This record gives sequence, C-alpha cells and structure tokens, in this order.
Amino acid sequence: MEFRFNEKEQAFYDEVDGFLQEMLPPDWASRPMYWPGGYGCGMMGMEDKESRDVLIRFRRKMVEKGWVTISWPEAYGGRSYTYMEQAIFDERTSYHRVPIIDVIASGIVGPTLLRVGTEEQKREWLPRIAAGEINMWLGYSEPNAGSDLAGIATTAVEDGDDYIINGQKVWSSQAHWGGYAWLIARTDPDAPKHKGISYFIVDNNTPGITIRPLINIHGLHEFNEVYFDHVRVPKKNLIGEKNKGFYYLMTALDFERVILVGIGGFKRVFEELVACVKKTERDGTPLGGYPAVRKKLAEIAIKIEIGYMLVWKTADMLDKGHSPSVEAAALKVVATELSRALAEAAMDIFGPYGLLEHGAEYAPFRGLAPVGYLDCISATIGAGTSEIQRNIIALRGLGLPVR
Ligand SMILES: Cc1cc2nc3c(=O)[nH]c(=O)nc-3n(C[C@H](O)[C@H](O)[C@H](O)COP(=O)(O)OP(=O)(O)OC[C@H]3O[C@@H](n4cnc5c(N)ncnc54)[C@H](O)[C@@H]3O)c2cc1C
Repeated sequence: MEFRFNEKEQAFYDEVDGFLQEMLPPDWASRPMYWPGGYGCGMMGMEDKESRDVLIRFRRKMVEKGWVTISWPEAYGGRSYTYMEQAIFDERTSYHRVPIIDVIASGIVGPTLLRVGTEEQKREWLPRIAAGEINMWLGYSEPNAGSDLAGIATTAVEDGDDYIINGQKVWSSQAHWGGYAWLIARTDPDAPKHKGISYFIVDNNTPGITIRPLINIHGLHEFNEVYFDHVRVPKKNLIGEKNKGFYYLMTALDFERVILVGIGGFKRVFEELVACVKKTERDGTPLGGYPAVRKKLAEIAIKIEIGYMLVWKTADMLDKGHSPSVEAAALKVVATELSRALAEAAMDIFGPYGLLEHGAEYAPFRGLAPVGYLDCISATIGAGTSEIQRNIIALRGLGLPVR
C-alpha cells in the first residue's frame, strides 16, 4: 500500500488544479455560499451575471475537454480515465468551490447505464450526457416511500408500444430545471415488492406531468413534488430488464453516495474556519488559543482525513471492479455528519456572532455559520438517511441478521 498518487494521477491532479486556478477569478472561492454536504443553497452567492458567465464558460470548457464524464469509455463520450482520476477531479473542483452541475446525469445515471443499460440505450443517452446537453432528476421518493423505496406506489402499465405511468414523486431536486426523470415505477403489482419495480427515463415535456415547487428552509426553490397522470412513455425507455429496477437502484444509490460528497469542499471551508479562528480575538486572545476551540477543530481535522481515506478507497475499489456498497455508505455517514459537526463547531465558536448573516457588519466567517447550520440538516437525510447507511453497514458489511 502506498499513500500517494502514482505519477499519472499526480500529473492529472496538477493539470486540473492549474486549469481551475487559470479559469476561475482570484476571489472565486469566497463567492459561493453553499455548505459542503448540504443540498439546499443552490446558487447562493453566485446569482450575479459575472459569476453565472464564469460557470457557463467553465462548463463549456469541461465538455470540450471530456472532463464531465472523465471515467466513461471513449466510445460513449468519456476519456477512459480511472475512477481514481475521477475522484481527483471531484476533489479539486470541490476544493476550488465549483458547484457540481448536471451531476445526476453524469455521475449517477451515466455510470448506472454503463453497467445495466442495453447497448441501444447507452448509444442513445451517454453521448448526450457527455456533451452536457441534458439535465436529469431523480424520481425515487414518494409520500409513502423514502427509506423503504421498495414501497413505491407509482405504477407503469404496458399499453401497446408504451407504458402508462401514474403516481406522485416528492423531494424531486432540480425537476423544475427541465430535462428527464430517472424514475422508478412498479411494473408488477403481484410480485414481492422489490421484484416488481422497473427503471424509466421520462421526458419532462410529456403530457400529464405536473411539477409543483416545494420551498426549502432557506426560502429557495430547490426541490418539487411531481405528479404523473397517464404519462405515456415509449417501451424503449424502460432501462435494462423489466422488474430488475430495484437491483439497478442499489447501484445508482452507491454512485450517488460517492459523487455527492465533494470532499475538497469540506477541506476548503475548514481552512476558512481555521484562518478565521486564528485572526479573531476575544479579550486579546485569538479564538484558537482557547482549548475548547482547539479540541473541536482537531476533531474535525481527524474526520476530514477519514473522509479523504474513504474517497480514495471507494475509487480504488471501483477501479478494481468491486462494488463499494458498504464503503459508499460509510463515506456518506462520515461526510454528512462532518457537515453537521463543522456547522455546529462554527456556531459554537463564534457564539452570538455566528448568528449574523452574510453581509452583516460583524459577521465572522463570511456569515457562513448560519447557512451551514440550516443546510447541514439536509445532508444526513438526502440520498438515504444516516440510519439507513448504518443499516447497510451492519447488514451487508457485518452480516448482522434482521430481526
Ligand atoms: C435536500 C433533499 C433533497 C432530496 N432530493 C431528492 C431527489 O432528488 N429525489 C428523490 O427521490 N428524493 C429526494 N430526497 C428524499 C430523500 O431521499 C428522502 O427524504 C430520504 O430517503 C428519507 O426518506 P423519507 O423522507 O421518506 O423519510 P422516512 O423513510 O419516512 O424516514 C423517517 C425517519 O425514520 C428513519 N428510518 C426509516 N426507516 C428506518 C429503518 N429501517 N431503520 C432505522 N431508521 C429508519 C429515517 O432514518 C428517518 O430518520 C431529498 C431529500 C432531501 C432532504
């Protein structure tokens, strides 16, 4: 075991880092107001035209370089790089605080299609995703099915060359951006519940789809409830084999838990917090001089290091053809609970000043503490709650029985 990148990986790390420093304005890292691990802040801090133009240029350049889908085979629009290189890319972009856009299509749908889709489906969807042409959203959760997705009630019934979909999805992030749903629906109501589910790709523009906004804790429109009323979907849009959807979902969720982490974002915010603690004084002593503050920050430093180890380990396992289900669950728990620990530490350290919002005269830490304190809650819920991740580790990892 060697705790360092090989020569090719190091060269790629340097290439991505150099590219990002050249591409992004010098003050870029102090613009985004989103919190690592959180889902709710969207483009907060980057709403101005100049920031948006930077992101559009960046995105265009990513597509040109084939970096959006870097680990996919070249035949489908990728660069055939390793998952380790993909992880390096994700770490550097999150460290430089480039928001992850379109990641559902490139980071979840594409890799799952590569494993379970038919050749025709790969040829139809993958090059379009690689070209950055399509947005996708995840149609899993329903009012009565979240942790237990095998309990979904949305149905897809065969009718000639099509399926007809009826039902409701909820907490559907980005569904209002347009594009396509990556959707699970029940195709066999008589089979045991996890054996009667199939995956579909559904065009948002199909008649019968209604998308209604849900406003989140920040007052932002980030997720939705989506209704399907006799929505007609061509049979070719059923992914892979009929009634195998629940097994494909396990693969897709593993990718989701890995891709959403953005471990470099944690490191960057932590560096910002440490710098702030060094220069902010209380009664003539820098905050970092107080043992309670030092202890909190040391604990977070340890957790960040564990997060990094798990990122590199899951990438290595993917490169060796293993399914890192337990590691992805562990990574999700470590990263999202780190998200909470960081926010709580910032709030505790700055006390009442921590409550001051971005832009307030005496707000420390750019006013990030209240944003993080609200946003970190979503981290431990989305993509499967911490309780569910612990169940995965206990059942699949440790082989413990279900009572
Ligand atoms: C910001 C955000 C964005 C989201 N985006 C999407 C999206 O784009 N698409 C989508 O489909 N969904 C999305 N979700 C939904 C998310 O996946 C679900 O909220 C999550 O899986 C939990 O399901 P639930 O809300 O139904 O809670 P429930 O499943 O009802 O769980 C309630 C509580 O019970 C606990 N619990 C449930 N079962 C068990 C068990 N077996 N053992 C121990 N504890 C258990 C849970 O941990 C939780 O604490 C999003 C959620 C958030 C917060």
